[in-house]
Amino acid sequence: MTEIDRRPRIVIIGAGFGGLAAAKALKNAPVDVEIIDKRNYHLFQPLLYQVATADLSPADIAWPIRSIFSKQKNVTVTLSKVLDIDTERQVVLHENGESTYDHLIIANGSSHSYFGKDHWAANAPGLKRIVDATEVRRRVLMAFERAELCEDPEDQARELTFVIVGAGPTGVELAGSIAELAHVTLSEDFRRIDPDDARIILMEGGPRILSAFPEVLSAKAEESLRKLGVEVRTGVMVEQIEDDHVVAGGETIPASTAIWAAGVKIENLKQWLGCETDRIGRVPVQPDLRVPGLPSVSVIGDAAKVAWKDGMDVPGVAPAAKQEGKYVGRRIAAEARGEKAPAPFRYRHMGSLATIGRNSAIISFGKINLSGFVAWLFWGLIHIYFLIGVKRPIFVAMSWFSNYVFRSKGSRLITGMEALRAVRAHVPKRR
Ligand SMILES: Cc1cc2nc3c(=O)[nH]c(=O)nc-3n(C[C@H](O)[C@H](O)[C@H](O)COP(=O)(O)OP(=O)(O)OC[C@H]3O[C@@H](n4cnc5c(N)ncnc54)[C@H](O)[C@@H]3O)c2cc1C
Repeated sequence: MTEIDRRPRIVIIGAGFGGLAAAKALKNAPVDVEIIDKRNYHLFQPLLYQVATADLSPADIAWPIRSIFSKQKNVTVTLSKVLDIDTERQVVLHENGESTYDHLIIANGSSHSYFGKDHWAANAPGLKRIVDATEVRRRVLMAFERAELCEDPEDQARELTFVIVGAGPTGVELAGSIAELAHVTLSEDFRRIDPDDARIILMEGGPRILSAFPEVLSAKAEESLRKLGVEVRTGVMVEQIEDDHVVAGGETIPASTAIWAAGVKIENLKQWLGCETDRIGRVPVQPDLRVPGLPSVSVIGDAAKVAWKDGMDVPGVAPAAKQEGKYVGRRIAAEARGEKAPAPFRYRHMGSLATIGRNSAIISFGKINLSGFVAWLFWGLIHIYFLIGVKRPIFVAMSWFSNYVFRSKGSRLITGMEALRAVRAHVPKRR
């Protein structure tokens, strides 16, 4: 085969929502696609909090990338961590070698930011990966176990206090789920403690929770959280997070479990591409999602700063990543077929949603604001269903639904003998 005959090589970094959609849009295109991901599975992040609060198991929300593309013969999957990009030579450098590209699609997503206080990570894990979710779940379940073994009421109260920092959708979902875990799911499982005594404190630096939603919905969400027994504190900045207390707004709150849900950042792109990035590391892209000055490189999903309307950017949500991935895939497919390039990318907003506990949610969709059970049904049935990017979505959705409704016990296991040792090691000694 001569260089002229060679099919264009498309390299996609990341098999999240954006990367999957791009690869699928290239299904029938005369191109060869290589997906590079540092993990071997696609993770459905919107349901991570349910793994963290023991409603679902990790395998319920992750699928091997290879199996997703087993029938799409123009896709090769490389399990490797990308280390750098040589944009001159058009080569991606990764842990297991180099991959040459004609077009590069970067969809590496975001990670959590501790606003320069990275040492807080040890005492307040964030929620981005499966290991984060299982670690949060372990900490939450272990706190109840330790409380059961405590004799001193103060120690018990500290073990049963959970602080969630950041009241965006993830923080709100976590707070609501932990409250339901304590007040409903575990309510009859302990003998020396009453899980109902658990305090769940949601801290927010801004003036209200869910600041991206209209004020009326924020207020409704706050009311629902309070009904679930969550203490909501707004306008409070966290100053210190230790393994047995949190200091916020000058007050010391004894708490053995803290969870971080406050900020995101995009890693590496400035260094990899040598281009400008914004405050959180996103790459501002052109209307066709290419990087200015690098026509063979597109950035999509959480990693891209895409202008939307009224001076706002496209939000960092799964539907946006999917739409951008599909657009770039189609644009490259058109180019490979010698067809006219599609019109510039236009984001279609599918609404903003957040769940509060097991059967309440808020939805903002244009002029429509919904809250309560109807909104929850909408979230469960429509939002989540249409985000599923794997085969047989109906079975996936049904399995989630039954695990959720019947509160799968398997997801509440704390596995390994180390769990028991850890409980013993952490129980405060009798005074
Ligand atoms: C807890 C949580 C809840 C959320 N809830 C919702 C919700 O309810 N609704 C909603 O619309 N959105 C939600 N989101 C946001 C949504 O998940 C993201 O907007 C979406 O995942 C972004 O897609 P992406 O393709 O840009 O990145 P991701 O889906 O994050 O995928 C990035 C991929 O890149 C890979 N990668 C990263 N770095 C490298 C590297 N160096 N080398 C190789 N591979 C790499 C990762 O392994 C990953 O597979 C939530 C996010 C979180 C964390």
